[in-house]
Formats: sequence, structure tokens, C-alpha cells
Amino acid sequence: MSRYSALRIVREAMRRHAGWGRAWGSPEPRRRYKVVIVGAGGHGLATAYYLGRNYGITDVAVLEKGWLGGGNTGRNTTIIRSNYLQDPSAAIYEKSRALYEDLSQELNFNVMFSPRGVMMLAQTEHEVRGYKRTVQANALQSVATEWIGPERVKELCPIIRIDGPRYPVLGAHWQPRGGTARHDAVAWGYARKCSEMGMHIVERCAVTGVRTEGGRVQGVETSRGSIDCESLCLVVAGHSGELAQMAGFRLPIESVPLQALVSEPIKPCMDVVVMANTVHGYMSQSDKGEMVIGGGTDGYNAYTQRGSFHHIEETVRALVETFPMLSRLKVLRQWGGIVDMTGDRSPIIGRAPVRGIYLNCGWGTGGFKAIPGSGWATAELVATGASGPLAADFGLERFREGRFIDESVAAGVAH
Ligand SMILES: Cc1cc2nc3c(=O)[nH]c(=O)nc-3n(C[C@H](O)[C@H](O)[C@H](O)COP(=O)(O)OP(=O)(O)OC[C@H]3O[C@@H](n4cnc5c(N)ncnc54)[C@H](O)[C@@H]3O)c2cc1C
Repeated sequence: MSRYSALRIVREAMRRHAGWGRAWGSPEPRRRYKVVIVGAGGHGLATAYYLGRNYGITDVAVLEKGWLGGGNTGRNTTIIRSNYLQDPSAAIYEKSRALYEDLSQELNFNVMFSPRGVMMLAQTEHEVRGYKRTVQANALQSVATEWIGPERVKELCPIIRIDGPRYPVLGAHWQPRGGTARHDAVAWGYARKCSEMGMHIVERCAVTGVRTEGGRVQGVETSRGSIDCESLCLVVAGHSGELAQMAGFRLPIESVPLQALVSEPIKPCMDVVVMANTVHGYMSQSDKGEMVIGGGTDGYNAYTQRGSFHHIEETVRALVETFPMLSRLKVLRQWGGIVDMTGDRSPIIGRAPVRGIYLNCGWGTGGFKAIPGSGWATAELVATGASGPLAADFGLERFREGRFIDESVAAGVAH
């Protein structure tokens, strides 16, 4: 696969762009692989990439029932931050954020990482106390965040109303190197590199069954035939429960719709990401000018990727309190994804009850930011059979042993 470069763009422009090849292959699945990864979202593809890059394992297939990145990876609002409270969370999210910093160079694919800064507004005294505590925790975890007052909030984001009627802005938890990236590009960039290493990314290949024998995985049944493997890694976000059921175990996960919407495009008016957890909404502006808006999850379990209308209405109503200018804008489009929520709102990375099966799921509403770090940690797990320091606390056994990593505040509405 040839390298992308400025010179290449000029050369292609001069020959009517006739020389661009496919970014990744479209192979027929083989009957056997060393590692099969189910789910070609960001986490599945990043796991495959770091298996090849860090461990030299390239006999890998990534099976995807739809199209690459068509799950939550291509549906999220792209917020990247690492300002979590608990040490294991801060470690994996910060590793991930740090990998995002030069991911475009690493993958030779522009993922448009934009460290524009993320602020989480404090609009009650309780939030002020909570965020000040998290800023202290972040200092100990070497995560660069700070507490800023309302005047600085207004300076960074002039369209905010800081003296709102119900919830004035009392300050914010500010992470200057948080930001956004182009979600599809993250999936495409990893896919291209995996393909370059000889791995198979097989789209339109739904896994319909998991074969086990004597408590060990043997392979999978798919819509394109039976495939054997030594290791099976389930990375299917909102469908983790279904895959676990195929393999004969249950997961402590609920699947719920999460929605987002964008406004019509307008001129640049906001160059930071703002989360307002009390009123329950968050917003950034895309490069196209659309205001990208999201809120919380629907209040019931479902597999419909639409979500309920009243939730969208509530989110917009809430944000209009803090950003009155929004009331003049039209909604351009709305969509939803199915997220997998654990009880402590932290992910599961670890071994499944069936030998040879590995889990990467439970990222809930906030896994886009974790893609590089999660792929790094899951590759280590699959390659060595044991979790390294990044994933050690995120095993499934924590639910049995009561070692929760409670991020319910950090991961409520705040993705
Ligand atoms: C509206 C919305 C906003 C969000 N905003 C943010 C945000 O701002 N920041 C953030 O960090 N996170 C955010 N998230 C969460 C984030 O999108 C997810 O945590 C992350 O994308 C999960 O990635 P993944 O690779 O695990 O899953 P996915 O991208 O969903 O990939 C899983 C893949 O598995 C495939 N699959 C499922 N079943 C099968 C099967 N049987 N056989 C084969 N393939 C199968 C699916 O088709 C899918 O492509 C948001 C999510 C949504 C829905």
C-alpha cells in the first residue's frame, strides 16, 4: 500500500486522481486464523493493529456484520478526554489520549485530532466540590487538568450564558489537551494499516454462533461459513450480550440507545467542547460548522438505533438554557447507537469464562476516546493471555469480587 503524503496529493491532482488504490482489502474469509476479532469498530480494529505492531501477530481476521465503523464508532460525538476520577480509568484514558496526539503520523492517515480543550461545567455547589476533587486526583495521576472560574469559562466560550436563571455557571473542570477527532477516519486509518500487515477485514460477515469444546473456543459460525481460531476476541459494543449468549455465558451489561444530533451549519462560534452535566447535554462545533449535540441515554433497554424523540427534545431544551443562541437554529439530522452499560460505568477488558475468548466491551457512552489505549491493552491480553497494567483492573471478575471502578459521575452524560 503506498504512502499518503502532500507530494502524492499533488501528483494525483495532476493525473486526475486516477492512481489512488483501495485503502483496505476485501478478502474472502479463510477457514482458519490464529486470532478472530468480532466487530470492526474502532476497538476491534485497534486491537488488531496493536497485535501486529506490538507482537508481530498478523494471522488475524476482523469480522464485521455490517460495514467497517458503522456501529458506535461512526455514530459518536467524538469527544476525547482523560479527566476521570479513578486511577485505572485515568491511566487507560490518558494513554489513549496520548496515542491520539500522533495517531495521524502513526497510521499515515489524517484522523483530524483536534486538541481544542474540553470543559465540564459546574452548575451546582455539589459539582464544584466534585470537579475540584477530580482536578486534585488528576494532578496525582499526571493528567493535565485545571479548575477555572466563570470569567475564564466565558472567555474560552463566549456563547455561554454564565448567569443562567436556574443554573449559573460556577466554574469548570478544564482539560486543555482534550478535544475531538474524526471518528470514521480513526476506523479507516486502523483498517488500512491492518490490511497492509496482511490481516483480513471481512465486512458483511455476521457471527451467528460460537463453537466451544471442553470449555475452550474452537471457532465461529458466520453468514459466510465456519471459521476456526485459537483466540476469539469479542469487541461488539451494544451487542456484547448477544455474542456472550452464543458462547454460553452472561455479561453484567445492559444495552441502551444513545442519541446525538447536529444543527444546520453556521459560522465558527465555539472552538472548545463543553459538557453541561447538570442541565444534561454537551456540545461542540464540527469542522463543517454544525453544532454537534448529545445528551444522556434512553431510560430503557433496546436495540433500535433511533432512540426516543422526547430525549432529543429534553437535551435541546436543557442546552438552550446555557446557550440561548441555539434556540434560533434548525436541527439538521439525528441518529442513535446502542451502547453497552456496566453497573460501574467502566469497561470490561479481560478473559471470558470460556478459555480462549477475550472481552473488550462495556465502554458505554464514552469509548471513542479510549480506542487507541483499549486496542493497546487488549492486544497485550490476547497476545500474552494475561492483562498488563493498563487493563488489570478491568477484568470481568471485578463484579464477582466487588472491586468496582465507579465512574458513574465521570461517565453520566459526559462522554
Ligand atoms: C450517540 C453517541 C455518542 C457518543 N459520543 C461519544 C463521545 O463523544 N466520546 C466517546 O469517547 N464515546 C462516545 N460514544 C461511545 C462510543 O461511540 C463507543 O464507546 C465506541 O465507539 C465503541 O466502539 P466499539 O469499537 O467497541 O463498537 P462499535 O463501533 O459499535 O463496533 C462494534 C461492531 O461490531 C459489529 N457487530 C455486532 N454484532 C456482530 C456480529 N454478530 N457479527 C459481526 N459483527 C458484529 C457491529 O456491526 C459494529 O460495527 C458515543 C456513542 C453514541 C452512540
